[in-house]
Amino acid sequence: MDKHNIIMTTSFEALGLRTEILEAIKDLGFEHPTEVQEQSIPFLLSSDSDVITLAQTGTGKTAAFGLPILEQIDESNPKPQALILSPTRELCVQIAKDIESFSTKMPKINVTAVYGGASMDAQRQSLRKGSQIVAGTPGRMCDLIRRNAIDIRNIKWLVLDEADEMLSMGFKEELETILAETPKERNTYLFSATMPDGVKSISANYMRNPHTIQIGKKNTGAENVDHLYYMVNARDKYAALKRIADINPNVYGIVFCRTRAETKTIADKLMEDGYNADALHGDLSQAQRELVMHKFRSKFIQLLVATDVAARGLDVDNLSHIIHYTIPDDYEVYIHRSGRTGRAGKKGTSISIIHSREKGKLKQIAATIKKEFTYTPVPNGKQICEKQLFAMIDKMEHVEVEEDQIEGFLPVIYQKLEDLSREELIKKFVSLEFNSFLRYYENAPDLNIDPKGRSSERQGRDRGERGDRANRGDRRERGERGERSSRERRDSAAFSRLFINKGKKDGLMPKDVIGLVNDSLRSRDAKIGHIELLKNFSFFEIEKEYTDELLKSMRDKDFNGSKVAIEVSNPMPEKKNKRKKKEWSRDGGRKSFGQDRNKGKRKKF
Ligand code: AMP
Repeated sequence: MDKHNIIMTTSFEALGLRTEILEAIKDLGFEHPTEVQEQSIPFLLSSDSDVITLAQTGTGKTAAFGLPILEQIDESNPKPQALILSPTRELCVQIAKDIESFSTKMPKINVTAVYGGASMDAQRQSLRKGSQIVAGTPGRMCDLIRRNAIDIRNIKWLVLDEADEMLSMGFKEELETILAETPKERNTYLFSATMPDGVKSISANYMRNPHTIQIGKKNTGAENVDHLYYMVNARDKYAALKRIADINPNVYGIVFCRTRAETKTIADKLMEDGYNADALHGDLSQAQRELVMHKFRSKFIQLLVATDVAARGLDVDNLSHIIHYTIPDDYEVYIHRSGRTGRAGKKGTSISIIHSREKGKLKQIAATIKKEFTYTPVPNGKQICEKQLFAMIDKMEHVEVEEDQIEGFLPVIYQKLEDLSREELIKKFVSLEFNSFLRYYENAPDLNIDPKGRSSERQGRDRGERGDRANRGDRRERGERGERSSRERRDSAAFSRLFINKGKKDGLMPKDVIGLVNDSLRSRDAKIGHIELLKNFSFFEIEKEYTDELLKSMRDKDFNGSKVAIEVSNPMPEKKNKRKKKEWSRDGGRKSFGQDRNKGKRKKF
């Protein structure tokens, strides 16, 4: 507890709480109320008004709503009277524990925590026994309502804790379902660190003339931001970006690029390589822009690649990282970008990926904004694999088991796996997800530049010290940099690459591209090369001699009721050479140049 938040003048006694509560919190070592408690407790005790409290985590919010609720609760009625919703299982358990500890001297009070990833039976049993206070996550709460395992039609208090987090985690529908089930006369207390539009609309639709309590500064901004930089050769920037994303499996951030073209290229490459990424730049229509922003806000996209101008209207508060793929010339732009993380009392990280000639520019920014920039080496394959492995295990530990959905399959599965020991089972499940990662990073090269500006990888190569293993790494490095093998170069020289304004979201499939080409060309001999389907648009290759004819004739074609537009595009985006190209025959069959497209594709956890 930050001592600045504690109000030294007021005592808990003066706030109007009963002896049992005062004794319990004294046992916990609470001597004076915090700012949020000092403002909320008397208000909640004396007013029937709904309340919005803007306060960050760790300010003593749980007691701020928990103590007034305990003061007014009907101990003799075992039915749920207070429902507290919070975004995560951890927070929900913590709230239940805290309220239990505030009510140790109120023996008739029962508190139940309900959250996903744990047996529903135990939670239902606890509810059956009677609980005046229920703390829950929105998903599990909805499940319980659906199964008639909880009756919240008569609750008196509804607390929405970390409402902004709940919405940004995509719980809007669940919240609305729960709110619709509660009585109109309830008191609603909404706690949030920030007031994004979603929270405003919840308060407008579901709260009655809420009173607002604001605690502390609205945004502590740059104070909570760590500034790091990675130094690589210019051609290795993209590979470094991927490693940064991989070493931060829960990254949620914006990758800033300088131009629209760079933004598009980087986003396309990231999507191709299996990352949850998309681009935000000036070439998007308003509808496309809103769609991308919506996906980013709801965390469907983890990495948003954007230009400074396009990101201007985007207000997202809980970003973990800002990545400067190209550092700006202007230090104010750097401040503006970095200030998008480290908000609402949370820690943020601002990462610059620079090459040796940009070091001076970065030093200048650091000196102007008076921040220390920490040099950080690009992680190696082993470090990344370790991080990903533990992230995966953590995810497995917390995964919500849909008991009802899977119970029918379990007997057969148990029978199939009965000869495997616990250890073997664990190893196999881990390998299932993890092998592609290990393979991808096996022998991954060192991307860091030494002070003389040469990469460590290159030094080894120059000295001729690298054996067979290292050569495999070299090929992989070429792949990461997007250099293609001579075989691939020869193939692509015979093809033009065309852009088509239809993508997966329009339902475009390779067979449709082939169909459109067939309908447009007189000759049946033209070979179609690589087809690359992206979300909003796609690319495909056509033998060069047919390019002009196709450009003319395909332009007027329709696909799913809207006009097709095609144009000649830049060369193929860079790709890992381990992912071989496919060639498509005109009859729709696939002539493979190599392995299956998805085999060996590095998958993001
Ligand atoms: P919360 O914001 O409710 O998660 O509280 C943050 C931490 O502060 C918890 O560990 C509480 O137990 C503690 N805390 C809350 N109120 C007080 C207080 N008045 N005095 C000392 N510690 C407190």
